[in-house]
Amino acid sequence: MKKILLYLLLSVTLITALDAAEFLKLPSLHLNKLNEQETSVILYKATEKPFSGKYYKFNEEGVYLCKQCSAPLYRSKDKFDAHCGWPSFDDAIPGAIKRVQDADGYRTEIVCANCGAHLGHVFEGEGFTKKDTRYCVNSISLQFQKEEKLKKAYFAGGCFWGVEYYLEKQKGVTSVVSGYMGGKKKNPTYQDVSKGDTGYLEAVQVTYDPGKISYEALAKLFFEIHDPTQKDGQGPDIGSQYKSVIFVANKKERKTIDKLITVLQSKGYAIATTVQKQTVFYKAEKYHQDYYQRKGKTPYCHGYVKRF
Ligand SMILES: [Zn+2]
Repeated sequence: MKKILLYLLLSVTLITALDAAEFLKLPSLHLNKLNEQETSVILYKATEKPFSGKYYKFNEEGVYLCKQCSAPLYRSKDKFDAHCGWPSFDDAIPGAIKRVQDADGYRTEIVCANCGAHLGHVFEGEGFTKKDTRYCVNSISLQFQKEEKLKKAYFAGGCFWGVEYYLEKQKGVTSVVSGYMGGKKKNPTYQDVSKGDTGYLEAVQVTYDPGKISYEALAKLFFEIHDPTQKDGQGPDIGSQYKSVIFVANKKERKTIDKLITVLQSKGYAIATTVQKQTVFYKAEKYHQDYYQRKGKTPYCHGYVKRF
């Protein structure tokens, strides 16, 4: 009986937590296993003892990820000491945190927007910093990652919505941003790039942890989620802004891509993908970011095909 009750309680808590994160719209969640102490805070919303968490007095440069799903939540530059016993931040990574009215009616709970993990509470109007906001977070809900550990890779393979959608699902990828790369004009807009004569391509910036996924594995995936043999664009999107291009940072990356192209050619693929040196990446307009996740739709011209 006790077991059944516990199961029911766990299910209700899970459903509530997942509801909060609009879980159903996010098909790709890699949830890390939680120990008993982590479960009590992250799923059952307990609070760790003040002054006990490992990130309370902790000042290294980097990013704080969600313990449960590894989504990046806070940056070290926004951390400050509120003398309260818990790590405090006056800002969060855009879109990473969801605010929920607490059951007690006056506090505002904060949860991971990706997986619904309980993080702590947010307070305003206390006057600690200019931003006048204090995200009071349980250390145990966080996992710190040194900034220099993360690397960036740039790919263009047709409409960036679809490329972003698939690469974002990959474990070891911490974020994917849709944008423009390859042209010269400063601050290009979608309208500029749509003309197809600016040199810009719809591209994505992938931030990844090389300890979890290699550049080669990421590039392989890129070749498998779009058609690298199409010359004039991608799927129904025709134009030079939709061509298949990999933007490399150095000789090592170029060598990796050349090797993969040779492998694909040996399998009979007439590869249209070209390799270019990285130029300035401009983030696209807000309505292009996380397009499919926000709309609850799936890509119209991208899909996974095993090629390696
Ligand atoms: Zn999370």
